[in-house]
Amino acid sequence: MATDYYELLGVQKNVSGDELKKAYRKQALKYHPDKNPDNTEAENKFKEISQAYEVLSDSSKRSVYDQVGHESYVRKGHGGAGGGGAGSFDAFDLFSQVFGGSGGSGGSIFDEFFGGGRRQSRTGPQSGADLRYDLEIAFEDAVYGADKKVDIQKADVCDRCKGECVEAGSGKRRCATCGGTGQMTITQGFFSVRQPCQHCGATGEIIEKPCTKCRGAGRVNKNKSIQIRIPAGVETGSRLRVSGEGEPGGRGGGPGDLYVVLHVGEHEFLTRDGDDILIEVPIDFPTATLGGPIKVPTISGSANLKIQAGTQNGTIFRLKGKGVPSLRGQGRGDQHVRIAIEIPQKLNKAQREKLKEFSETLDTGVHPRVNSFLDKVKRLFNQ
Ligand SMILES: [Zn+2]
Ligand SMILES: [Zn+2]
Repeated sequence: MATDYYELLGVQKNVSGDELKKAYRKQALKYHPDKNPDNTEAENKFKEISQAYEVLSDSSKRSVYDQVGHESYVRKGHGGAGGGGAGSFDAFDLFSQVFGGSGGSGGSIFDEFFGGGRRQSRTGPQSGADLRYDLEIAFEDAVYGADKKVDIQKADVCDRCKGECVEAGSGKRRCATCGGTGQMTITQGFFSVRQPCQHCGATGEIIEKPCTKCRGAGRVNKNKSIQIRIPAGVETGSRLRVSGEGEPGGRGGGPGDLYVVLHVGEHEFLTRDGDDILIEVPIDFPTATLGGPIKVPTISGSANLKIQAGTQNGTIFRLKGKGVPSLRGQGRGDQHVRIAIEIPQKLNKAQREKLKEFSETLDTGVHPRVNSFLDKVKRLFNQ
C-alpha cells in the first residue's frame, strides 16, 4: 500500500486540481470493477484511489490532510479503503460525479467504456443517465436472433412545465440558505465538511410555485415500449445498446442510452459453450457394439451421425458447423455429441441365456481394458 494519497494517485504534492482529476480518471478507469470483474484487489485499489481523490480534491480536506499527515488522517477515521470511516463516502458515487453522471447512479461509466466519450461539466449541459434493463430470452432466441419488445419505466421531461419545474407565470429565486451555491459548509470540530443544501435540494434555487404535475421535479415517470433486435449468437451477459432511450438530459444535454443485458434460458437437452453446442446422446448397447447410423438433434434440424462399431461410453463426435452463428464475424461453431451407452436393465430368460452363451465365446482380446485391469489386481494380491 502506498504511503500517502499523493503517491497513490501518482502525483506531486503541489498538483493542481486539473492534474489531480486527470490522474484520478486514468487510475479509476483502470481499476474500476466493471473492467475487472471478480477482482477484489482491483476493487480495493479503486476504492483507495477514490478515497485519495475525494480528500485531495476538496481544498479544506486537503489542507487538513497536509497538516496532520497521512497516518493521523486515516487513523481519525477519515480515510481507509472501502470508506469505512468516512460515513457517506461512496467510491462509485464519486466516480460517477467525476465522470459527469447526472444522477449519481454510476450509469455514465458506460460512456467511457463504450467509446461514446461524452464530456460534460457540472454547470453546462448534462447528458441523461443511462438505463439498464435485464431481459430473459429463450435458448432459441439467442441462437437464431429475435425481435423483442421491452417495456420500461423511465423519467421523461414533464410536458406540463417542459422541464422548467415551475407553474406557468411563476419563477425561481436564489436560495438564501446557501446563497445559491447549493452547498453548505458545516464545521464539525476540527474538520469542515461540505454538504448539499437541504433547503433547496442542492440546486441553489427556490421554486415559487412548483409545477403541479411533476411537483417541481421537471420530469415524470412514463412507461415506454421499445422494440429491440437481438442478433443471432448472443449469450448471457451480452449487452445491447439502444441509443437515446435512457433518461433525458438536463440543461440542454442529450438523453442517455438504454443497455439491455441478456440472460439466456436453458434448453431441454442442448447446452451452449460459446459458439459450440454440446449434447449428450444415449445409444443402446447393440448399436455401440455393432455400429450404425443415429439421428442427432441440432439447432438446425436433425443430423445423421455414423456410430462406429465398438464405440465406447463418453466418446465425443464433432458435427462441424452445426453450432451457433458467431456474433462477431462469420462462421458458426460446432456441435459436440457425447455418447452415453445405456446397458439393458431388464432382460427375459431367453435373452439372458443368449447373452451368457455369447459371453462364453469371448476370448481375452475382446475386453482389453477389463483383462489388463484384472491382471494388475491379480499381481498386486499375489506378491
Ligand atoms: Zn412539471
Ligand atoms: Zn440552498
